[in-house]
Amino acid sequence: MSMKIYLVEDEKSLNILLEKYLQREGYEVTTFSTGNSAIARIKDMPDLWILDIMLPDIDGYEIIKAIKNNNKNTPVIFMSARNEELDRVVGLELGSDDYLSKPFLPRELIIRTNKLLERIYDIDKNINLQANVDLAIAGYNISKKQRTVFLGSEEIILTNKEFELLNYFIENKNNLVSREQILDTVWGDDYFGSDRVVDDTIRRIRKKLDKFTIDTIYGYGYKLVYKA
Ligand code: CA
Repeated sequence: MSMKIYLVEDEKSLNILLEKYLQREGYEVTTFSTGNSAIARIKDMPDLWILDIMLPDIDGYEIIKAIKNNNKNTPVIFMSARNEELDRVVGLELGSDDYLSKPFLPRELIIRTNKLLERIYDIDKNINLQANVDLAIAGYNISKKQRTVFLGSEEIILTNKEFELLNYFIENKNNLVSREQILDTVWGDDYFGSDRVVDDTIRRIRKKLDKFTIDTIYGYGYKLVYKA
């Protein structure tokens, strides 16, 4: 899933150019050429707004205010051709997160966009993409994001703990994991019940997902055996 950017720029050629650059970078871009059409879409909550200040109908500051009123954490980069220090200060005071004075190289907007999104959403683009990729293992398709497991077109319904335990096994595939490690990771330090809960959950996973081989290592724990 790519990040959504809303771009507001009334200068047609620049609008098209920036859209192309952002799309090439993998972003999903929606463009606007007027302020009011942009304001009407604030509730869509894109991941980032890129705004021109000088627009034909309203000024970009009004849009920044409206965006930040809706959700002060929505990041905004704004652009101004007037190249006045005042623009920069007003924009930053209104809560915008970065500023570009025109003219600028499209590449500069891309660099600032990537940096800002990484900072705000605390993500590395590559890691984020990987997290969204479905994992195919032992014939199952597992989506960490959707928390689903499919065998072909059939969904296998797991409880929360079953899913987390399966995940933990996959992360440690072919390694021994002790009951205590499983309890600490999946149930947490504050779990005071019996460690029999681990055995019970594993019994259910074995039953539901019989293509996985989970060996019992007596007196120690378990191992998910997997050959790629
Ligand atoms: Ca303009």
